[in-house]
Parts: sequence; C-alpha cells; structure tokens
Amino acid sequence: MERTLAIIKPEVVERGDVGKIITRIEEENFKIAAMKMLRLTKAQAEGFYHVHRGKFFFDELTTYMSSGPVVVMVLEGENAIRRWRQIMGATDPAKAEEGSIRKEFGTDIQRNAVHGSDSQESAAFEIGYFFAGMEFHA
Ligand code: GDP
Repeated sequence: MERTLAIIKPEVVERGDVGKIITRIEEENFKIAAMKMLRLTKAQAEGFYHVHRGKFFFDELTTYMSSGPVVVMVLEGENAIRRWRQIMGATDPAKAEEGSIRKEFGTDIQRNAVHGSDSQESAAFEIGYFFAGMEFHA
C-alpha cells in the first residue's frame, strides 16, 4: 500500500467539478485516507512548490494556486503514486492522454485541474505539509 497527495486545483473548485473528480478517484479504487478544503496563502503555495522556486512559472503558479480554495486529499492504494499520475495525464492538458483527468478537466499547462506527487520523497513531504496524523481515517 502506498499514499500520494492529490490536489483539486482552484479552477475545478470554482467551476463546481469537485464531485466529478472525487467520483473518478473512487471509481479507480483509491481509498481517500484524508481530505479537506482550504485556501492557500501565497507563502504557503510557495512552500508547497519549493522545488520549482527559480523557474519562470513559479510566481504565476503560486499566485494561481492561492487564488481560490483547493481540495487536498491523501489517496491510498497499490502503486498509488504512479497510478494517480497516469490517471491525471500529462502536465499540459493539450498533450494529455484520452481519458485522463487533465485531458477532460484541464484548461492549460498551468490550470491543469489536479496535482499528484511524483515520487515517494515528494509524497512524504507533501502529505506532511497538509495533514497531521489525527486527520487520517484509514
Ligand atoms: P506536474 O508534476 O505534472 O504537476 O508538473 P510540474 O511538477 O512540472 O509542474 C508543477 C505545476 O506547475 C504544473 O502542474 C502546472 O500547474 C505548473 N506548470 C508546469 N509547467 C508550466 C509552464 O510551463 N507554465 C506555467 N504557467 N505553469 C506550469
């Protein structure tokens, strides 16, 4: 069993498509081990995306991620990290595979609907960034 951190990004919450993404997560047989809605401050978004500090899109990305509420979740399952990234699809929705969440719900390379941890190390950091032990219901 493995855990990954998923985020439903601001444009999806704004549009009212949170339920569709959660339905997809449940259909894919992930267990939702923890979940909450919150609005990040700019500084909190910068801390979450610290590995991207210095990239040309860092300021725009962190402004966007703090522009409205997001839903953060810990998904649990076999190979959860790799499997959730496959279901999300490529970073750029225009290049994402048919049937992927980013293909269906993403707007552009920045507003690409969802986030997923890309390694065990980043999953550990990202889960710890948002959730304390008592928030898990596994
Ligand atoms: P991910 O692992 O597929 O989410 O992609 P990355 O780790 O490379 O990038 C993190 C997030 O930054 C992406 O999900 C996008 O929201 C955003 N992003 C990535 N590349 C670009 C870009 O070229 N321009 C802008 N504006 N945002 C980007």
